[in-house]
Amino acid sequence: MSLKVLVVEDDREIRALMQSSLSVEGMEVQTAVSLSEARALLQHKPPDVVVLDLGLPDGDGADLVRELRKQRATPVIVVSARHQEAQKIALLDAGADDYLTKPFSVGELLARIRVALRHRGTSLAAAVTCHELEDLRVDLAAHRVERDGVALHLTPTAFNLLARLVRSVGRVVTHRQLLTDVWGAEFVDHTHYLRLYMAQLRAKIERDPAEPRHLLTETGVGYRLADV
Ligand code: CA
Repeated sequence: MSLKVLVVEDDREIRALMQSSLSVEGMEVQTAVSLSEARALLQHKPPDVVVLDLGLPDGDGADLVRELRKQRATPVIVVSARHQEAQKIALLDAGADDYLTKPFSVGELLARIRVALRHRGTSLAAAVTCHELEDLRVDLAAHRVERDGVALHLTPTAFNLLARLVRSVGRVVTHRQLLTDVWGAEFVDHTHYLRLYMAQLRAKIERDPAEPRHLLTETGVGYRLADV
């Protein structure tokens, strides 16, 4: 059974490009040019993943994300222009899975779709407990982090921060999500904590903390633990 993708995009060229490139990959692509069209298609034929543009003629994509989150765990990947930063972050916090900034390559879109589907339906507590990429190995259950086979000693907070990123490996996690999940809801504005602990983590984990290979910065949005 092929994967069903709903592309919600009002720009004709981008829509056509996404449709053809995803179809080539064997996906079944439906397109909508507005929120109302998207709602109708979602009712009629629920997709496996939604690719959602932000600037739509009849409203705010965030409404659609909230509606979807109430009903089911369909992954949503937000596609935005650079100036739509604030809206993009709001969507991620509302429950969208990831985002792409225009212009993006088809390869990037496919990678995001793959990661989003891998995480589909998995709650934060379950699923990913081990992460391994190149020199880094994290075993959450054993509370063990290794680089090149040598155990690293992390403070509890640094470990919790890394653990939160491991559970969403490959996906962006917003500043707000990290602060809420690691420190607690009352610390949501303390982004300096995040910067401090991220620097600490990078110093331990990265071969070159100035050129991180694992703990990637998503400027203005959050962080992503690399999975490839
Ligand atoms: Ca648009």
